[in-house]
Amino acid sequence: MRITVLGKSPSWQDAGGACSGYLIEHGDAAVVVDCGNGVFSKLRRFRDYVSVDAVVLSHLHADHFLDLVPFAYALTYAPRQQPVPVDRWPGTDHPARPVLFAPHGAREVFRRVVGAWGNEDLIENAFDLRPYAPGDELDAAGLRVRTHAVPHFVATNALDVTADDGGRLTYGADSAPTEELCAFAHRTDLLLIEATLPRPERDGQRGHLTPAEAGEHGRRAGAARLVLTHISDELDHLWARREAQAAFGGPVDIASEGAVYSV
Ligand SMILES: [Zn+2]
Ligand SMILES: [Zn+2]
Repeated sequence: MRITVLGKSPSWQDAGGACSGYLIEHGDAAVVVDCGNGVFSKLRRFRDYVSVDAVVLSHLHADHFLDLVPFAYALTYAPRQQPVPVDRWPGTDHPARPVLFAPHGAREVFRRVVGAWGNEDLIENAFDLRPYAPGDELDAAGLRVRTHAVPHFVATNALDVTADDGGRLTYGADSAPTEELCAFAHRTDLLLIEATLPRPERDGQRGHLTPAEAGEHGRRAGAARLVLTHISDELDHLWARREAQAAFGGPVDIASEGAVYSV
């Protein structure tokens, strides 16, 4: 299984960057995990979007789903998706319509977002929308995806992806510190974990991790490899890495766009 980082920014993009999005490829299968703002354009550098079999969303925050909008426009209006010849495209009877796994309630959220300019059913028409509940196990183009609720500001799921050859990726999504994630990721090949915060939230509900906390979660999970993500280019990555490595007890990577990992 090959994992390509499409975007790793938190809720505002790095200079030239994109928010959360990861391309997972295994054999002919292509699955996009999260599709935040900026991700569609990054996806096009690495994979033809009509060959994406499925998109899996961890939660319904803008930085994890907003680029479903341009993705849906492409699937709907691109000349190559039409039934008749347009320009140099021959026309197709089988336009691409990827499966879209999203948490329950997604249909209503999408309708509100694209309904703001009168395109209510844009996303549900372009994709084959399949809502899921925490704990559900999904079949994404032959990849097994387990889902598990983690504490965040809205209903959010960590995702654990396993290929038929045994390669395994666990993605922590956005999460406050939680033992749940350590147990869910137990002995995973690669834990892709957020490290959003320069220091813990000063007040209110916690919703994210610091790099040291991310490292600590990796250590408690017994993850073979740890990659930090959802971290702004406005934070010192060398500092973040040192903090995470000290807590993890081994080398830690910081996700960068275009980085590829194999598990
Ligand atoms: Zn979030
Ligand atoms: Zn986020």
